[in-house]
Amino acid sequence: MPIIDGKKISIQLFSEIRHEVEILKTRDNLNPGLAVVIIGDDPASQIYVNAKVKRAKELGINSFKYELPETASQDEVLNLVRELNVRNDVNGILVQSPPPPGIDEQLINETIDPSKDVDCFNPYNVGKLTIGDETGFLPCTPAGILVLLKRYDIPTEGKHAVVLGRSNIVGKPMALLLSSKRVNSTVTICHSRTVGLDKISAEADIIVAAIGKPNFVSADMVKNNVVIIDVGINRVSAPESKKGYKLIGDADFENVCEKASFITPVPGGVGPMTIAMLMYNSVKSCCIQNDVELPKSLI
Ligand code: NDP
Repeated sequence: MPIIDGKKISIQLFSEIRHEVEILKTRDNLNPGLAVVIIGDDPASQIYVNAKVKRAKELGINSFKYELPETASQDEVLNLVRELNVRNDVNGILVQSPPPPGIDEQLINETIDPSKDVDCFNPYNVGKLTIGDETGFLPCTPAGILVLLKRYDIPTEGKHAVVLGRSNIVGKPMALLLSSKRVNSTVTICHSRTVGLDKISAEADIIVAAIGKPNFVSADMVKNNVVIIDVGINRVSAPESKKGYKLIGDADFENVCEKASFITPVPGGVGPMTIAMLMYNSVKSCCIQNDVELPKSLI
C-alpha cells in the first residue's frame, strides 16, 4: 500500500516556490512579504507561527512577525491588520487561529484585505472559491491535499469522495474543491449529526478525514482500495517516547493501511503541504498586488 509522502512533495514545492521568488526578485524587482500575527502565548500556535516565519525566510520571502499579548483588545488587533493592509512591503497577512477568547475571529477575517488573504478566510475569497473563480486564493490545507492527489496521479473524476468534518478551515472548502470542475468528484460531507456515517464511508473511493478524533476511521468503515487522506492531528499519550506523547491522525493507520490503495501518514502527510501552500499563496499575493504574471498553478 503506497504511502503518500507529503514531506517529500512539500520539499519539491519549496524548491519550485523558491524559484518563483527568484523570478519576482530578478525580473520584477519585487520581494514577497508575509506578515504573521499571533495573539497570546499558546505554545502550539507559537510553534506553528515560528515554523511559518522560518520557512518564509528560507524561501526568500520577507517575513514580519507581530506578537500581541493575550490581553490585546479587538480594536488593537483590527488596527494592526488595517496597518498591514496598506503596507506595500506586506503582501500576505495571516492571523494565527484560534485567537484568545473575546477576540472575534470572523471580524479579523473580514478586515484582512482580500488581496492579502493568504489563508483564504475572508468571505470575498470564500465566495470566489464557491463560484469556482480561481483568481482568489485557495485555502491552504485543502489545496495542499489536491496537490498530493495530483502528484500521485490519483484519479478523482467521477469518484465518490467522502469528507468527514465541515469546518470552515478544512471540511467545507475541501468539499468545494473536490466537487469543482477541475476535480470532478461526487462529494458527500459528514459531520457529528450524520446518521449512518460508517455506511457512507464504506462507499467512498476517497476519504478525507478532518474531525480531530484519533483512530476514528477504522478498517471496517472503508472499502478495499480506498484512498485515505488523513488531516487529523491528535496528540495522544506515549510514555515510550521522549516527549511523553505522539501525534496520530483520524484514521486507524495500521489497520486501514491493509485496505487502502493510498494513504497519508500523520505526521508527514497533509501537515507539510499546508505550510507549502501558504508560501505559494504569499508569492501569489505579491503577484496579484503588483499585477505581474502569476506563478503556475500547482493543482
Ligand atoms: P473542527 O473542530 O473545526 O471541526 C471538526 C469537524 O468534525 C466538525 O465539522 C465536526 O462536526 C466533525 N466531527 C466531530 N466529531 C465527529 C464525529 N464523531 N463524527 C463525525 N463528525 C465529527 O476541526 P478542524 O476542521 O479545524 O480540524 C480537524 C482536524 O484536522 C484536527 O485534528 C486539526 O488539528 C487537524 N488540522 C490539520 C491541519 C493540517 O495542516 N494537517 C490543518 C487544520 C486542521 P460538527 O460540525 O457537527 O461539530
